[in-house]
Parts: sequence; structure tokens; C-alpha cells
Amino acid sequence: MLDGNCVFCRIIKGEIPAAVVYEDDKMCVFKDLEPKAKVHLLAVPKSHFKLLSEAGEEDAEILKYMLTKIPGIAAANGCENGYRLIINQGDDAGQTVFHLHIHILGGQPLGDL
Ligand code: 5GP
Ligand code: ZN
Repeated sequence: MLDGNCVFCRIIKGEIPAAVVYEDDKMCVFKDLEPKAKVHLLAVPKSHFKLLSEAGEEDAEILKYMLTKIPGIAAANGCENGYRLIINQGDDAGQTVFHLHIHILGGQPLGDL
């Protein structure tokens, strides 16, 4: 279920433009508006849940699906040499968008980034 007030739900619905690099019935991957690396993508499930800590057993399938798809999507988008996945969970991590998302960072040596 999508949330009309959520920026990532609105991107999924096509109400807010985004540079989408991959989409299917379960997930959407688009370029981060403020990239922190040469390649910075956000992978989001096409169902709204706010936090990793809110994911239940019923969400295990979509998380597994996303992690299975990401290597191919990353490789097809300039991360052939490797990449880093990040999920910011909650305030201490600086989470700003409360629709679960996986950052895909790469396209360059990342060092301590
Ligand atoms: P968080 O800190 O919540 O893990 O990351 C949210 C990310 O979403 C940030 O890197 C931010 O640049 C990105 N972001 C926020 N609003 C938009 C938007 O409207 N479009 C896109 N493409 N990225 C966004
Ligand atoms: Zn949402």
C-alpha cells in the first residue's frame, strides 16, 4: 500500500519525477537527488513501510527479492567494480525519508565514505 504523503510513494506513482533506472511490480530503483558518490541509487519497495525495524515476517520476501535483484542492477549502472549498500534506520543514522530504502553507492573507490 502506498502513502500519498510519502515522497518515495509519490515517485513510485509517477507524481514526482525521478531518474528511474529499474522498475518492476515489486521494487523501483532511481538516482538519488543529492548523490554522495559517482553512482548513488535508491532501491525502494513498492509498498510503504517506514523503517527496517517495522518489517515483519510478511516483508521478508520483498527484502530478499530486493537484495537478490540489486547486484544485477548495480552492475548495469556503473558499479562493476563493487558498491556499498546502506540502510539508514532512525534518527541516529540520519534517516530523512521514512519509506524503507537501500542506498547503492559506487562507481568509484568508496574508502571511508
Ligand atoms: P536517508 O537519509 O533517509 O537514508 O536518505 C534519503 C535519501 O533520499 C537522501 O539521500 C536524499 O538525497 C534522497 N531524496 C530525498 N528526496 C528525494 C527526491 O525527491 N528524489 C530523489 N531522487 N531522491 C530524494
Ligand atoms: Zn512511501
